[in-house]
Amino acid sequence: MRLKKRYGQHILLSKGVIKAIVERLSIQEGDILLEIGPGTGNLTRELLNTPLKKLYLIEIDSQMVHELKKIEDDRVEIFLADATQFDICSLGGELKLVGNLPYNVASLIVENTVIHRKCIPFALFMLQKEVAQKLLKGPSWLSTFVRTFYDLNYVMSVPARFFFPKPKVQSALLEFVRKPDGEMIEDEKDYKRFLTKLYSMRRKAIKSKIEEDILKMANIDPLKRVEELSVAHVLLLYNLSKTHEVDKK
Ligand code: SAH
Repeated sequence: MRLKKRYGQHILLSKGVIKAIVERLSIQEGDILLEIGPGTGNLTRELLNTPLKKLYLIEIDSQMVHELKKIEDDRVEIFLADATQFDICSLGGELKLVGNLPYNVASLIVENTVIHRKCIPFALFMLQKEVAQKLLKGPSWLSTFVRTFYDLNYVMSVPARFFFPKPKVQSALLEFVRKPDGEMIEDEKDYKRFLTKLYSMRRKAIKSKIEEDILKMANIDPLKRVEELSVAHVLLLYNLSKTHEVDKK
């Protein structure tokens, strides 16, 4: 089969890494999993050696789907679909997500994961190493967006030679564990708007973005730069801005 660059197809060849991924998922009897971008099914087949109850696959390439249909296991259900848009929670139940992601759309898939966080307590993604590191530390709107809802753990680096064809970048496995303190944001689209605005020109002083009286209420130095703010501070500023808006009306 010819691999397609436009779909970011880099097959994970390393049995060791595949085993490590499956172990890290600590799959229990009754678990429901969703694999994104299963491709030729290398990881899929290994997942099926666990006691999982159901395995959903989302793959955009019909040629790959054709191959995947050869897997004979009642627990598998395949969707020919785009994972950046997919309504994940419509599958029902709580899901563990896993995937060796297509790197060109990895950020969009991460964003879609956060949007569907109410049914995703756990995710494990293979990403471009730089993207993984940036999500872990920030500063970026997406990093803060993700870390508002999930604790991130860097599992391991994975060298390019473990894939075929060999990607130009190094890879890393990143784990997402949903935070227990539940829903602190009602409207994540509104929160996203706030974050993208906040993190544009993030080297500027925070007072150029947020009203001074809000900064005073939050006890944040107005000369601090946006990139120096913790997730907790950003969340506090967001919530104060919301109440402030309502007060003004
Ligand atoms: N996990 C497989 C292949 C990873 S490569 C393995 O390790 O062997 C990335 C896979 O994601 C490819 O199969 C590609 O076709 C698929 N893909 C690319 N864009 C996608 C999208 N938007 N939604 C779902 N799958 C996608």
